Amino acid sequence: MRDRLRLAVPNKGRLVEPTLQLLHASGLVFEEHDRSLVARVANQPLDILFVRTADVVEFVADGVADAGITGADILAEAGRDLPVIARLGYGRCRLAAAVPSDGPARAVEDLAGKRVATSHPGIARRFFAERAIPVEVIPLSGAVEVAPRLGVADAIVDLVSTGSTLQMNGLRAIGDVLASEAILVAGPAALAERPHELDGIVLMLGSVIAARDRKYLMMNAPVARLEELEGLLPGLESPSVIPLAHEGMIAIHAVVGADELWGLLPRLKAAGASGILVLPIEKILP
Ligand code: AMP
Repeated sequence: MRDRLRLAVPNKGRLVEPTLQLLHASGLVFEEHDRSLVARVANQPLDILFVRTADVVEFVADGVADAGITGADILAEAGRDLPVIARLGYGRCRLAAAVPSDGPARAVEDLAGKRVATSHPGIARRFFAERAIPVEVIPLSGAVEVAPRLGVADAIVDLVSTGSTLQMNGLRAIGDVLASEAILVAGPAALAERPHELDGIVLMLGSVIAARDRKYLMMNAPVARLEELEGLLPGLESPSVIPLAHEGMIAIHAVVGADELWGLLPRLKAAGASGILVLPIEKILP
């Protein structure tokens, strides 16, 4: 067994920045030298291998790396049965079937007998076969969205996040094929031999992801309003209540969803809270 764990991560493309941000935020100290092949983590027995997003699965499956970060769509396309040990919440997109906006197709069933261009031929073939929709899948490695205009295909199966690329190319989505996000996969051998190290990575990355959509809320209030304020604050568990030097006053601390703040803060104020502070949270380990 190697003495240092190896984690394969993308070296190019849209998963690079959010992945590096997550690794740094989790507390791993390393420098990327122009994304050279390996970065040595200074404070953990861990090496980070920078490889093509599509090669992460292969590196992990072959045991060259013990774990890796890639897209769920890429794992599904590779058709390898690697254990997904964490979903990372970024790189969210869906693989959707789309047709020219002015065409008649309304649903994936309407693609029977048509040519479908995609950079995910494995997933597309499985999808249509499972539904007994006969299509000709045309594998392309890029620029899938221009295939209908070039006459190469009648429809596409491609990654969509906002839908603006489809729209720009005069296309309309008619059905979802797969939902994707960045994932952490582990090699079967690593999972058997180094479960504690992998658990540590899952725990630390998970703590950053869990903190991203939450805020730490602090406020002062008259003790007489506690029940009313508690009713507004479900939080992680129950809120912390701390007596203040000022007689009859308390401080309340709670963790709340970032998306709840807009509605919540005015109600807390109306319920007697003052000096309300909203703070970012770095990590949450429940
Ligand atoms: P890239 O290396 O930039 O081609 O992207 C690799 C991965 O990023 C894809 O396989 C997806 O898992 C993910 N991704 C997230 N959002 C999108 C999107 N809107 N278009 C393409 N890929 C996306």
